[in-house]
Amino acid sequence: MKAGEENCLFCKIIAGEIHAEKIFEDDWVLGFLDIRPVNPGHILVVPKQHSKNIYDVPEAILQNMIAAAKKISHTLKRAVGAEGVSIHMNNEPVAGQVVFHAHIHVIPRFSNDGFTLWHGNDATTMELKKVGEKVRGAMEVR
Ligand code: AMP
Ligand code: ZN
Repeated sequence: MKAGEENCLFCKIIAGEIHAEKIFEDDWVLGFLDIRPVNPGHILVVPKQHSKNIYDVPEAILQNMIAAAKKISHTLKRAVGAEGVSIHMNNEPVAGQVVFHAHIHVIPRFSNDGFTLWHGNDATTMELKKVGEKVRGAMEVR
């Protein structure tokens, strides 16, 4: 096992050492049911190669993850009658990441399902301009 994979729960699921209700699999990605679903059909999409989160997952792998999330989103409409889907990724403890193997949550949504997302506060044009300048200035040109 490579560094980071020892005692990694999702690496153990990928290796078949811990059971998960598998839904989707290709060469790069595995999708399985979240054990504590927000709604029935809540699926986690994980890369087969261990990464901690958005900061170290290779872009090409992330593309495969999001492609799988899209496929699963369509499937959840047919499978559980989802009216929509929330796609979510927690990165680092401050953002609520608990399992440190990169994963995208695909959460089927239903009218009045009670799953509320954050709501922001109005910002002034000046505040937006200031933050915009700061972030644009920090963006690496690619
Ligand atoms: P987070 O790191 O906060 O984005 O979320 C980790 C997610 O992993 C939670 O939604 C858990 O319910 C889920 N989880 C933890 N253990 C398992 C497991 N053995 N099988 C499936 N899902 C799990
Ligand atoms: Zn892992």
